[in-house]
Amino acid sequence: MINKQRIDDFQSRVLAWYDYAGRKFLPWQQDITPYKVWLSEIMLQQTQVNTVIPYFNRFLSLYPTVYDLAAANQDEVLRAWAGLGYYARARNLHKTAQIIVDDYQGCFPKTVALLSNLPGIGLSTAGAIAAIAYHEHAAILDGNVKRVLSRVFAISGWSGDSRVLQTYWDIARTLTPKQRVRDYTQAMMDLGALVCTRTQARCEDCPLSSACLAYQTNTIEIYPTKKPKKILPVKHTIMLVLENDQGEILLEKRPLSGIWGGLWSFPEFDVLNSLQVWYEAFHGKGFNPQTITGFRHTFTHYHLEITAIHLSTSSGCKPFLNESQQFIALSSLSDYGKPVPVDKILGVYCHDLA
Ligand code: SF4
Repeated sequence: MINKQRIDDFQSRVLAWYDYAGRKFLPWQQDITPYKVWLSEIMLQQTQVNTVIPYFNRFLSLYPTVYDLAAANQDEVLRAWAGLGYYARARNLHKTAQIIVDDYQGCFPKTVALLSNLPGIGLSTAGAIAAIAYHEHAAILDGNVKRVLSRVFAISGWSGDSRVLQTYWDIARTLTPKQRVRDYTQAMMDLGALVCTRTQARCEDCPLSSACLAYQTNTIEIYPTKKPKKILPVKHTIMLVLENDQGEILLEKRPLSGIWGGLWSFPEFDVLNSLQVWYEAFHGKGFNPQTITGFRHTFTHYHLEITAIHLSTSSGCKPFLNESQQFIALSSLSDYGKPVPVDKILGVYCHDLA
């Protein structure tokens, strides 16, 4: 239980710090609308502000309103998102825009309960939209805020544990003021991003240092408690860069669910032998695989060891493509939303051609 004096002290220190050091000139902080807040909050999940800014500006010029986004083709949305990663965010963004237009007459709801029912909007993002866009008394608990709270209140235990998470939410809600909730919300995010950073906390510049248990007891490094270590499994895949005699490359559109859903990628094979069987089935002889590059790409749940193999088709060969596959000219590849590893392979391939 945190007493009222400590709550008041915490809030006034955070707000006073925000007045002189908080960020006030980010693109989504100008002429604030629920649409801009939502867009920025989704982009900022697991992504740094500096990376997000150009994407946010481009999105807003392509889709100035939620109506524009709802009416867009999903391929275009994924293309505008390509490079930001975690593509489920883009698919949910598109779905949510359509729900806002169809069910809410284009206006975002104001409550955390309704907002958090929308695809891709969790409790913290809902809190941020309610607080920043509507001045509602709603708490947030993103990674930055968790870090600050864990250190100031010396909260032990990994936040993926539901009891620990409940403690975080209880504290976050207790501390959130009714007045100036927009500034407070932004201030807490900024404190975590600019001062109480993951690796080098700047405690000498922190407004909370005199109240911070981790600082006072010199135990900053142990907060927040890290996720128990798990060794990620390693999977292997062969990505086929199949070039036809016009110099076009075969890409296929991935299914909407699963990794890189809806993006364009290379055909994949588990082992070289299955690639050879597939190739010879339509091409006959002439299997001559050339390795373009190999590297590891890491997802949340596993590492993917990627080997990119080049093969050619000769004149007259008719690869039996399925409907999700098509040959694309190199000059048109930028029109297709592709995951980062595919762009990386194409970069090496085009460099080798030059
Ligand atoms: S005093 Fe240091 S550890 Fe504590 S909240 Fe401030 S920056 Fe973080």
